Amino acid sequence: MSSATIRDEFFEQYKEFYNGGPIPQHSSSDFAYFLECHRNRLEQKGIQAVKKIDRIEDDIDKAVHYDKQPYTLDMTFKECNYETEYYKDGTFLARSDKDTETLYCNVLYKQGYQEETISCPNCGHAAGAKTFVNGCPMCGTRFKTFKFFPCVTSFYTLPKFIERKKTERNMKKVVGAGVILALLVAIGVFIYNWKTSGSLGAGLFFGVIAGLITGWLGTIFLYLGFSFILAVTSFSKMFAQAADTSDIQAARFTKKKMENEIRSYIPDFSYEYFEGKIQDLLRAIIFSEDRNNLSIYKGRDNLGYLNDVIDVDYRGGFKYEGCTVVGDVLHVRLINYVVCEVYCDGKIGRHQRNFKMEMIKRLNRSNDLGFSIHAVNCKTCGATFDAMHVEKCPHCGHPYELIDDDWVVIYVGS
Ligand SMILES: [Zn+2]
Ligand SMILES: [Zn+2]
Repeated sequence: MSSATIRDEFFEQYKEFYNGGPIPQHSSSDFAYFLECHRNRLEQKGIQAVKKIDRIEDDIDKAVHYDKQPYTLDMTFKECNYETEYYKDGTFLARSDKDTETLYCNVLYKQGYQEETISCPNCGHAAGAKTFVNGCPMCGTRFKTFKFFPCVTSFYTLPKFIERKKTERNMKKVVGAGVILALLVAIGVFIYNWKTSGSLGAGLFFGVIAGLITGWLGTIFLYLGFSFILAVTSFSKMFAQAADTSDIQAARFTKKKMENEIRSYIPDFSYEYFEGKIQDLLRAIIFSEDRNNLSIYKGRDNLGYLNDVIDVDYRGGFKYEGCTVVGDVLHVRLINYVVCEVYCDGKIGRHQRNFKMEMIKRLNRSNDLGFSIHAVNCKTCGATFDAMHVEKCPHCGHPYELIDDDWVVIYVGS
């Protein structure tokens, strides 16, 4: 199955999920966890979010590959219309921006992977890992201490400002209008000449000539007029967009600097992969119920204000602010540009937020693309456990530090 097929199936099921359906079957265990946290937040607020993803017919549909044996990460992207409608008790509240977006979706493969058979810790039912995404199919017990491949690990959208398809459609209308105008003039001139000269031949002759000239000139003028309107509106849109995203454009200039600096510590560092990681971590922190007891967040700040956030969208850039090494731990500081939908006092508000974040990771450890916080392997006893809320192996008690395997956020503020 190709990454594009996995992605498209995933998004069909993703829309269903927000209508009360099961977790999309291709979701990685980390992503499935995020979806459940998000659904809990929406339920708490009594909000229904309806996700719409319409593909654009002649879309760009590509992928960037990142290889780190035995894993391959396919970062697919395509154009689409992505929007969310929010309802409370069946009443429409708000709709997220209706714009054309580029949808980025990461699909992770493991070479030579054979679907592993796992057993339910409650009833002992044994079957392929993939059938447990929505809990044990026999007893319904939910646990995420397993992995399978290929799986969808994350996604985000970036806004685009102009719909190419729409321009083409309008261009066809312009030509159509030219043809109709030509026909009307031809019929008019034909009838006039026929009636005044009494000759059918002369009527037809002048009618055809007039029609051709009108069609030709008319289409040219309509085309020029349309192009002018398009240029003016695109320009003002582009201008508005440029003003709106100037901070992001500026932030993206820090990409090269970041790659150069981080690669001196992590030689195979992938900016694109890291970009997805930041969004995953921020979303997990925002939708978490208990931030005091979270392995991925070790900050001390009161993040209670995030409890009203019902959705978060990446705006398409983060600003690298530098890194330092303390002992054998790398600290990376950045500003992450996102938009939050906030539900407060019965209203939904859309707020741009620039989250300052600091993330840490222990150096000299191999960077495991297939790592899942929900299926950590104990280095002492070999048991698999969920490390989202624990700091030691539940089987042998050996302490576990997430920074040995993955990024941990130590500061979030705005
Ligand atoms: Zn079971
Ligand atoms: Zn252990």
